[in-house]
This record gives sequence, structure tokens and C-alpha cells, in this order.
Amino acid sequence: MPTDGPADPAGPGPLATAWYVVGGLLAVGHLVLPFGPMHDVAYVAMAAGAFGLGVAALVRHRPQPRRPWWVLVGGIGAWLVGDIAWAAAEDVGRGPSFPATADVFYVAGYVLFIVGLVGLSRRRRGEGYLEAVLDASIVGTVSGLLAYVWFVAPAWAEARSGSWDLVVELCYVVFDVILVARVLHLARVEAGLAPPTRLVGLAFTAVLVGDLLRNVAGRVPEVAEVPHALDTWWLLGYLLLGSAFVHPALHALGTRDETRRPDQLGVGQVLTLCGGILVLPTVLLVEVLMGREPDVVAVVLASIVATILVGARLALLARRMRRQAEALRRVASTDGLTGLANGPAFAAALRARLGAGGGSRVAVVLVGLDRYTEITDILGYRVGDGLLRAAAERVRECVGPDGTAARLGGEAFAVLVDVADDEDALAWAGRIRAALATPFTVHDIEVTVDALVGMALAPDDGFDVDELLQRADVAMVAARNRTERVARYTGRMSANGALTPHLATELPAALAAGQLVLHFQPQVGVAAGTVTKVEALVRWQHPVHGLLPPAAFVPAAERTGLVRALTRQVIDLALAQAARWRAEGRPLAVAVNLSAHDLLDPETVTRVRDALDRHGLPPEVLELEITETMAMVDPERSLAVLRGLALDGVALSVDDYGTGYSSLAYLQRLPVQRLKIDRSFVAGLVTDRASAAIVRSTIELARHLGMTVVAEGVEDDVTLVVLREMGCDAAQGFGLGRPVPADQLLDLVGLVEERVPRVLHRARPVGNRVV
Ligand code: C2E
Ligand code: CA
Ligand code: CA
Repeated sequence: MPTDGPADPAGPGPLATAWYVVGGLLAVGHLVLPFGPMHDVAYVAMAAGAFGLGVAALVRHRPQPRRPWWVLVGGIGAWLVGDIAWAAAEDVGRGPSFPATADVFYVAGYVLFIVGLVGLSRRRRGEGYLEAVLDASIVGTVSGLLAYVWFVAPAWAEARSGSWDLVVELCYVVFDVILVARVLHLARVEAGLAPPTRLVGLAFTAVLVGDLLRNVAGRVPEVAEVPHALDTWWLLGYLLLGSAFVHPALHALGTRDETRRPDQLGVGQVLTLCGGILVLPTVLLVEVLMGREPDVVAVVLASIVATILVGARLALLARRMRRQAEALRRVASTDGLTGLANGPAFAAALRARLGAGGGSRVAVVLVGLDRYTEITDILGYRVGDGLLRAAAERVRECVGPDGTAARLGGEAFAVLVDVADDEDALAWAGRIRAALATPFTVHDIEVTVDALVGMALAPDDGFDVDELLQRADVAMVAARNRTERVARYTGRMSANGALTPHLATELPAALAAGQLVLHFQPQVGVAAGTVTKVEALVRWQHPVHGLLPPAAFVPAAERTGLVRALTRQVIDLALAQAARWRAEGRPLAVAVNLSAHDLLDPETVTRVRDALDRHGLPPEVLELEITETMAMVDPERSLAVLRGLALDGVALSVDDYGTGYSSLAYLQRLPVQRLKIDRSFVAGLVTDRASAAIVRSTIELARHLGMTVVAEGVEDDVTLVVLREMGCDAAQGFGLGRPVPADQLLDLVGLVEERVPRVLHRARPVGNRVV
């Protein structure tokens, strides 16, 4: 069943096929048939075919715009009548006179074609239109001069005055020049566009070639003698016009989105413009070489016009390039998906804002959409992208003209606003969250998102673009664990582990860059009140976040196994420091914390040995701390490592004793000499009887097993005195001395050794006081 739906653009329809076959046969017939009625019939049939197809196509497809297409078909009709009149006159034997009835229709046809072509290209007005007009005018000027010099002027010279022949011939030349310009204009304006329009352009190009040959034939008899030299071109014109009308894309004309090729400054364009100008002097040269009288006035006039036009054209080109550069800049600073500023643009805005100074503070507000990954996983990327676009729109509206909104990538947005104080900043965070709280409807799906907001304020939280962004990011991560889902950056954030995921990736470089430093905390002998050992505690001197405690990065290092490299470095630093103190006459031993990874790695033994050798230290200078839990991971392997270390003479201690599940009986199997009682028991020693009982029995049992005991977390003198009463060997804690950098340790040791013996000797615990 035939349908009237749009023709398949992939291939010609049956009508098109018929036209190609019939048109082809007519063309061949016209070429091979001898001059005479049949020959003329073939020619006229081709014209009639093009005309008929035009009418049928326009009625059926109604291409947009309609009127120019009808005018074009009218032109074909006029030429058809002209052809019939011409053939009739010829066949009647009178021979066509010039001008003849046919010329009236031909002239009318030209007028209609020109009007039609103007109409076809007019609707493209806008970007690039003026350039196209100028290009057409330049071509018109140059071809006009050529036509004048080679056809018009000679015809004028030969003509009898008042001759109609001359008028008609001049008409054709003028029309041809206009047609050249119109076809070129159409080609420029329609570049890359609909095939039917392009076929029309080709058809008139063929007609123009025929016209040119006819004009040449008037001057060069050899051309006139070639059979079908001219009318074949016109016939081709009809064939192409008919093809335009049967083209399957005709019905879609004007209905689709037309994307224009940008006007680029190509080498071709520059050469064409230069070539256009060069034609003019070349004409003079040719005329002189041919011994003709040069048409100086005409050439000079045309040159002036063409130069002005080319100048205007170049000016437009320069303007276009400027605009393109601007557009490029815009694109480079815009996020393609949402149209917001992108990361680099945001950083630039922040930098400019920081540079401008001013009284008020600046808030960098990062907004993340929680659960976004799950949303895209379940609903797909189309919904995800739609959601980002909608969220961006709300953020943009919320911020308004007072601030900058950007998308940094993924589901992270950033806002830059001036704020008066912390409350003002929090109010902004609340407004942004509120704006995103209303459910989104994306592709008919209702999506609710929860926004996380992290903020960093300048100058309070940093002065530097990267620093502020990173700190706002830290705050955003922290916001996830808060009920209000908003967090302002604080220095403590790095300590609470919020940074860990970021820092883990930076840690290898930090190790290589020597950013790890050690602080040392004294262990005090309870009997004498002297310091003989210090615990080395690692810190990360981070270039952005400052001094980071081990809780911020050691757990991450343990997860990745990087902790082995960390331990190696800590042992090295600790031994280097011990060697320095020894050289200064203070032979302090150092305790270093191991990790489970070290305990499972047989190489640990040789590494420790090598480190001691490297620093020229006896093994008893080093103590290694392990926890019960570590030793339980793989008891056999751990035992092997511990035995190796013990055999070398390195001291071993059990850290955080009491927090694990192992019994002392089990620990006895390990070659450890010391127990460090966890500070959770020590802290409650004075007030809590259960803690006191645990500490007391642990000390007794340990002594029984031949181990010494260190109490951790001693925060006051009462606890110290109670520990002495219980027979504890050593104590460590803030109450005795906090961990300090190496250069402050000897001073601290001096203070401790001055104060603690006095406390121990004079004091007696009474209740929770020392008297
Ligand atoms: P830890 O081995 O139990 O180290 C003692 C921790 O308790 C230190 O915290 C110290 O500053 C703190 N501390 C000392 N006295 C007191 C006190 O009186 N009261 C309170 N509340 N705390 C006290 P720091 O330096 O933050 O180290 C925390 C943990 O990080 C360490 O616990 C240790 O498990 C780990 N760590 C530290 N340095 C290293 C290292 O070089 N390698 C490995 N693998 N872990 C380390
Ligand atoms: Ca420890
Ligand atoms: Ca401990």
C-alpha cells in the first residue's frame, strides 16, 4: 500500500528513478538525433519534464520557503514556452530570427530565476549573510568587467544603433552576470545544506556554462561549429532541476535544524579574494598582449569597486575572528554540561577575589550531591546528566549575580560568595541546601538528592586558592557524618580522619619528600624518676594541612601496605636521633611502633639489623612495640619475626595491653620483655576500683613472668604515685611530658628529672590527692 509519509532519504523513490532513466534517455537522444523535429522534441520534453516535476513536487511536498520554489518553477515554465517557440520557428523553416518571440520568454525566465534564487538565499539572513553578499558582489564585479570587456564592449562597437538585437544580447549578458553572483551567493549561504538546493545551484551553473559558450561562440566561430556545444549545457540544467524536484530531501527543506558551517579563514578563501582582485589587471595585460585597445576606464572602475568590497570583506573576516576568539574563551571557561563556570574559571575567579582584598570575607562553598553515583547507577546517565543540569540551574539561581557558581566536575559544585561572618556563611549553606531539597523531575522521574555542603572562609581558613578549595573539600567530606550535612573547615578536621582518603594518595610522595617527622615522649622510671627511654611518635608535616597526627594517615598506610616503608623511615629517623643524643652524652633508648605488616614480613629482621649497623648503635637502644591484636593475625609468622628480632638483642614490648583478647599466658610464649598497660585502664586508676584491680594484677602477673610494666596515659601525679605503690616500672603520659620534637626533648627530660623525683620521694597518695 503506498503511503504518503516522508520519502526514504536513504535512496531515491520510484519517481526519481523514473526521472533519471527518462531524463538520461532524452539527453542521449538529444545528442545522437540529427537536427530536426525529433531532436527538438527531446529537448522540449526534458524542459517539460523538469517543469512538470517541479509543479508536482511543490504541490506534494510544500518545501519551505514555498514562494521562491514556485518562482523558480515559473522560470522553467517560461523557458519551456520559449523552447517551444524557438523549436516551432526553427521547424517551420523560417529559422529563428534574433530577437524572436522565444527571447521574450527566455528573458522572463531569467528574471524569475534571479528572483527565485534571491528568495532561496534570503531566509538564511543572519550570521555570515553579509560576508556572502560581499563575496557575491566581488564575483559579480569581476565577472561583470569580464563580460563587459569581452562581450558587451565589442557588441556595442559593432552594433547598428537602435538595434533590438543589441538590447536583447546585453540583457542576456547582464542576467548572466547577476546569475553568477546569485548562484555563488546561494552556494556560500547554503554551504553544507540541503541537496535539492545544491542541485538547483548546479543546474544554473550548467546554464551559465552554456550561456558563456554562446557568448564565446558569437566571437569565436570555431566554438559555434561544435555541434550541441551550447544546448547540451542547458539540457543538463533542466536535468539537474528535475533531479532537485525528485530529491527525497525536498520534503524536509526548511523543517530541519540547519547547522551552519562557521566562516573560517581558509587559505582557499584568501586565495579566492586575491585572485578576484588579480583578474582585473590581468585583463588589461591580456588586452595589451592581444594588441587590443585596453579598457582602462572600465578596469580601473571595477578595480576600485572590487577593492572596496574586498576591504569590507576582510574587515568582516577580522570581526568574525575576534568573535570566534571570544567564543573560544567562553567555551574554555564553561562547563559543557551545565553551562556554569568550570573548575579553572572558578579558581581564576577566586584568585581575582582574593587579590582584590576588601573588607569582607570570602566563602568557598563546595556542594556535593550525596548518593549521586547510586542515582546514575540505577537510573542511568541520561537522568544523571539531567539532574546535574537541573541542580546547576538551582545553584545558579540561588547564588544570583552576587557570587560565582561553578561545577568542578562530577557531582561537585562550587560557590564563591562574600560573607560578613560565620553565620552569614552558614546561612548561604542553608539556602543552597534548601534550593536543592525540593525533588527534581528529570525525564519524568522524580529524584530527591541530599546536598553535602563544606565551607572554607578566607582569610580565616587560608589565603591561597588551592588551600581554600582543598579545605572546603575536607569540610564537605566531614559534612557527610553530620546530621545537618553542613560543615565549616576547622583545623581539627584532618585529625578526625576526614582527610584520610585524600591523604593516602599523597603519602608515597610525602615519604619520598621527607615530610615525616618524629616527636618523642619520655618514659620515666618510677623508682628513680629518671628518663632512660623515649617513644618515637610519627607526624606528617603536610605542606597544606600542617602537622598531621598519626591517626590521620597511619590507618590508611596500614590498609595499603605502605606502612612498611613508613616503619622503615621511622626506625631510621629514630635511630639517627638516638645516635645524636648518644654523641651528646645522653644515651636514650627509643621505642618505635610496628604494624601488623612489619610483623608478618621476615625482612623486618634484617632491615632492623641493617639500620642499627648503619647508625653504629647496639641493639638494646631500640625497642619495638607491637600490639596483641597484631601478633594474633598470623601467630606463627609473627613469632618467627619476633624471635629473629629478640635473637638480635632488640627489645620488644606489648603495646596497648588490655585492649585485646589474648591472655598473659599466650603472651608469655612471645619473646617480649615489657607490657605497656593501655591508658584506658591507667586513666581510671585513682577513681575506678575495677581499673585499679586490673592494673595491680597485671603488674603482679607480669613481674611473676619476668616482664617489666610501663603505664601509659599518666596524666597526673596521683596516678604516678599510685603506680609506684603498685610496683610499676615505668610511666609515660601527658602528666610527665607530652611528645615533643627532638630539639625540645632534652630540655623536657631535664624538667622531668628535676620535678618527678621530688614528687616521688615526698609524696604519698591520700585519696585522689598527693600529700
Ligand atoms: P600509641 O603507641 O599508644 O602512642 C601513644 C599515644 O598516646 C600518642 O598519640 C601519645 O601522644 C598519646 N598519649 C601519650 N600520653 C598520653 C596521655 O597522658 N593522655 C592521652 N590522652 N594520650 C596520651 P599519637 O602520637 O597520636 O599516636 C597515636 C597512635 O599512633 C599510637 O598509639 C600508635 O599506635 C600510632 N603511631 C604513632 N607513631 C607511629 C609509628 O611510627 N608507626 C606506627 N605504625 N604507628 C604509630
Ligand atoms: Ca606505642
Ligand atoms: Ca599505646
